[in-house]
Amino acid sequence: MRTLGLIGGMSWESSAHYYRLINQGVQARRGGLHSAPLLMVSLDFAENAALQHDGDWPALAARMARAAQTLADGGAEAIVLCTNTMHKVVAAIEQAQPRPLLHIADAAGAAIAAAGHRRIGLLGTAFTMEGPFYRERLAAGFGLEVLVPDDPGRRDVHRIIYDELVRGIVREESRAAYRAVIAGLVARGAEAIVLGCTEIMLLVGEGDSPVPLFDTTTLHAAAAVDFIVG
Ligand code: GLU
Repeated sequence: MRTLGLIGGMSWESSAHYYRLINQGVQARRGGLHSAPLLMVSLDFAENAALQHDGDWPALAARMARAAQTLADGGAEAIVLCTNTMHKVVAAIEQAQPRPLLHIADAAGAAIAAAGHRRIGLLGTAFTMEGPFYRERLAAGFGLEVLVPDDPGRRDVHRIIYDELVRGIVREESRAAYRAVIAGLVARGAEAIVLGCTEIMLLVGEGDSPVPLFDTTTLHAAAAVDFIVG
């Protein structure tokens, strides 16, 4: 099996799911006592969030590049960045070390395209919903039309991620807020919803949406398993 390097801690709540899903996937594919050969650099999320708040993306890029370099030096044969948002700086990771990066939007885009959807709604942090790095990858790579929530919807979705989900807090009012945002996207023509933040699956499941959900944590972990088992 091939060894994979995870950049985690963003947040550790979702990294814990990655760890479990990847090991379960390897166990299911290989059987017996097999588990996933993994390295992980788990960062302090408070430092990331402060840099995001300050808009210091060069410092964030340097931080991700250092983590990837550490993993490559340790023997990782590919890198998985366990967050959607930080894919904003994947170029720095790719330049800093020679290992391939398994991009989270590619894992999502491939699954959505295979299911035959064309117009999708995207939920994530404001950085992911509003910046071009994620939407353009889905559009250019997979021919998807990407809708995002309106201003108040994006504010709610972002606030609930940082105030609650990355802290492991799951509240019924927040689930209702997400359900309303999803309903709004479906009313505008979304045929499926991308959970484009690795903690949203803590809050929202298939019962909260009239259209299929594509959870990036699950899909990215599945891509990681494919790489490991080869
Ligand atoms: N885990 C989140 C994501 O998938 C947000 C945390 C972060 O800013 O990295 O985007």
